[in-house]
Formats: sequence, C-alpha cells, structure tokens
Amino acid sequence: MTDCLQRFLIRPAAVRGEVVSLSAAWREVVDRHVLPAAVRDRLGELVAAALLLAATIKFDGTLILQIHGDGPVALYVVECPPDGSFRATVRMRDGVDPAISIPAETPLSALVNANGGGRFAVTLEPRERGQPVTQGIVPFEGETVAQVLENYMARSEQIPTRLWLAANATLAGGVLIQRLPTQGGLPVEDTDGWPRIQHLGDTITATELCSVTPQEILHRLFWQESKEEGEPRPLHFACRCSRERVGGMLKMLGETEVESILTERENVEVRCDFCNQAYTFDAVDCAQLFLGPEAVSSDVMTDPKVRH
Ligand SMILES: [Zn+2]
Repeated sequence: MTDCLQRFLIRPAAVRGEVVSLSAAWREVVDRHVLPAAVRDRLGELVAAALLLAATIKFDGTLILQIHGDGPVALYVVECPPDGSFRATVRMRDGVDPAISIPAETPLSALVNANGGGRFAVTLEPRERGQPVTQGIVPFEGETVAQVLENYMARSEQIPTRLWLAANATLAGGVLIQRLPTQGGLPVEDTDGWPRIQHLGDTITATELCSVTPQEILHRLFWQESKEEGEPRPLHFACRCSRERVGGMLKMLGETEVESILTERENVEVRCDFCNQAYTFDAVDCAQLFLGPEAVSSDVMTDPKVRH
C-alpha cells in the first residue's frame, strides 16, 4: 500500500518513527507543475518530510513548511491539514524559465540558499478558528532537505531526529526516527539503541525509498529489531482554495488595483498556485466584492498571481 503513513516503535531501543510512501498523491502535484527535475524532486522530499513531521508533532491543525529561497527557487510551500490531505507548490524566481535544466541530484541548498539568504519557516495553524497561529522562522541550515529538517527539529523541538527522503517524477518516500526519552520504564541496558537504529536507517537507498511500501521499508531496515507497527493511515492530495478565499484575496489587493486590472481586461483571472484552478471575476463580481464588509482575512498561503 502506498499513499500512506506508517507509525512504528522499537521499544527496546527507545526509538519511534514514521514511514511515508507516496505515488498517485504525489503525481497529483507533479502533473500540475512544469519544473526542472531537481526542483521537482526536492519538492517531493519536502512533501514527504512535512507529512512525517505533521505525524510526529503533537498538534491538532495544519502544518505548513515554507522555504524562501534566494537561488533559482523563490518559494517552496507544503501544507498538511490534519485530515491526511496535503498540497504543495513551488515558485521559481522571476526571470528563471521553469523549463530550465537543473541536474536532478542538485541539493536543496543550491536551489534556495545560493547566496546564503534562504529562510525556513514552520507554521502551525490550529484546526479551531480563532486560535493563535504559531510560526518559527530559522535561517537555512544544511545541504539537503533531510539536514534542514533535522537541524530545525534539534533547535525547536530539542528531540534527536533523523530523516531519509527521496523523490522522483512518480514516487516520493521517507523515513523519520526519533529518540524517546529513556526514563519512564524503558530498559536502559540497550544503550546503543539510538546509534544502532540510525545506522540501520543509513542503509536505505533513494531507490528503495521510491519503490517500496512503508511495510517493506520497515521490514528491510529493521527486520532484526523488535518493533510494533501501527495501522497505515491513507494520504491524498487536496487543495484548500475556493472562490470565497480568492474573493478575500482580491479584497486585500484593494479596489483601486482591481479596477485598474479591469480597465485592461474584461475579467480578473486568478489561478491557484497549488492546484492550477482558475477563478474568474467580471466587473459585476468585483463590484460586489467591495460592497461587502472589509476583508478580514486572506489565504496568504495560496497567494495566487493575478494574471492580466
Ligand atoms: Zn487550489
């Protein structure tokens, strides 16, 4: 089974973890974007990492990973709501042709931290409306997606965490392990548990991460370990955009700006960066938008481009 997350616990070694494997759900993202191989594959790794992180952090809401880049990629965004769905997008730097050739093995740092100005942000948006949104922004630290996430977890959660990630045009996968606190009735004699499980994790290849199910990955890596496995939890691609949200975004843009677009075009067309859905507002629709109460919120994560 792919397009799922699988939790596991290696109790004697005081290590817990998650495995993710994506196929059809990942292709929903790939099919919506024209991207160089390296940019696409790093996005796949970020999707896998975000899903692993969302499954690990104790939080009821949407986890959003964002990387603001200063290289060929200006922005990566991955959003994981608590219902097992996700969406993801990339924005290339202005002037960079999305069909540009960048070798597939190019590390994340070369794409988003070419001049040392990359930033990595994790946002937690509570499920309940009105609850405060928390955001942690850290400088970009590391070469690969896995290293950036490991450094973030070490800083923010202070839990030793390791990740192995891989993606290609059709599949994306990853493994996350975390060291559990050793108190609370866990055996202390297995002192090399954490290094041993990490060493086993290091043996996984990108090909394996992209070709087998979470159950097979767990078996291949930890067949000698005494482990407990949870039920696989299904994952799917879904976008949160709606006409209402786009209307809210146009209101934030302001009446003057919207009117200036309408002097050049019959309609304002807004396309969602995540799913490519187009929303069209004619002059009447736009006038109605500005008759209502002031905009109170906007979908800052969608941030679609107004094309005119
Ligand atoms: Zn959308």
